[in-house]
Amino acid sequence: MAVQPRRNSVAVKVGRVTVGGAHPVVVQSMTNTDTADVTSTVNQVMALAQAGSELVRVTVNTEEAARAVPKIVETLAMFSVRVPIVGDFHYNGHLLLKKYPDCARALAKYRINPGNANIGRKTDDNFRTMIDCAIEYGKPVRIGVNWGSLDQALLMRMMDENAQSASPVDAATVTMRAIVASAVMNGQAAESYGLPKDRIILSAKVSNVQDLITVYRDMAAQCDYALHLGLTEAGLGAKGIVATTAALAILLQEGIGDTIRASLTPLPNGDRTEEVIVSQQILQSLGLRSFTPQVTACPGCGRTTSTFFQDMADQIQTYLRQQMAVWKEQYTGVEELKVAVMGCIVNGPGESKHSHIGISLPGTFEEPVAPVYVDGKLKCTLRGDHIVADFITLLNEYVATRYGQPVGAR
Ligand code: SF4
Repeated sequence: MAVQPRRNSVAVKVGRVTVGGAHPVVVQSMTNTDTADVTSTVNQVMALAQAGSELVRVTVNTEEAARAVPKIVETLAMFSVRVPIVGDFHYNGHLLLKKYPDCARALAKYRINPGNANIGRKTDDNFRTMIDCAIEYGKPVRIGVNWGSLDQALLMRMMDENAQSASPVDAATVTMRAIVASAVMNGQAAESYGLPKDRIILSAKVSNVQDLITVYRDMAAQCDYALHLGLTEAGLGAKGIVATTAALAILLQEGIGDTIRASLTPLPNGDRTEEVIVSQQILQSLGLRSFTPQVTACPGCGRTTSTFFQDMADQIQTYLRQQMAVWKEQYTGVEELKVAVMGCIVNGPGESKHSHIGISLPGTFEEPVAPVYVDGKLKCTLRGDHIVADFITLLNEYVATRYGQPVGAR
């Protein structure tokens, strides 16, 4: 089944990026540095932006963090990094935004968690204060519900109403409904306080794949706010990547989701930019956006003689990703390049012919040569100790020839 048309949502401008409407699905990420540590936060934001994050969120949890935000934004600008910075507020956002106007001004968007903005209060004064700040400084907000911090008063009220209804549903269903209700009702409340709809994004995150799909389908059906999509607390390693991909792919396929984040837990000293690459890969695999040339590589099997083939596939993939920083300035459309690196002649030439440029390495008992196909035709046969370097030379030539000319001339 083809990807369904994007759900009609109201476009929201976040700094220089637009989320929703007919705009491409935006990739975002979040730092895990102490925001008060300006140097570490700037470095990580730069790495995330360099990897392709189009929005970067930082936690603003203390007065020190609020004071650091303008310095972070200024320092990034000095390095010509203009990625919009989003402030993530919990519990004390109303105090910090009021007390630190430079922080409120420097941020491109405020994330408000309605589950803890008014905690312990009978009114939504704190939530309203944050909305008033957004109005005063001309900023959009994301009203981000998370089931780990769901508004308990709302949940209890909905549980009571359910218990008294003629056909009560189970508690899990009420909880899902409360999550959606919290997001939509707070969006409507923000509008009633004067924040226009084109400055409101909603999210309602849970950590179970099926629940997330249910919640977002309901939310998409109930409103036309732009939606931020993400599986919260997705987890470590393969589990986190697979669960995120499973959930987001189904919703994106249905046209739901205007911006996405992969909430992966990095390994100790792991690379935070992985979450950006995963989000990009989800969108590119679904054919929704193109970010970097794709390498088709077979899994290898008993016919591959050594790890040379895996090493080569990895080297080519890494090379392409590194080159993109330069190529995307020089070569329009190069992100759509398809490269095949295959382990033997069984599927190698066939797969190579389906790519723009492809190589198939010699398998066990095969002649030690590596045929290279360009645009479906055999171009040459590589051999010897420099196959990787020779192939990269051919790759560079191909990119310069194919993408180094006006689009209409290709
Ligand atoms: S292309 Fe060759 S090496 Fe790769 S999986 Fe298929 S048979 Fe094995």
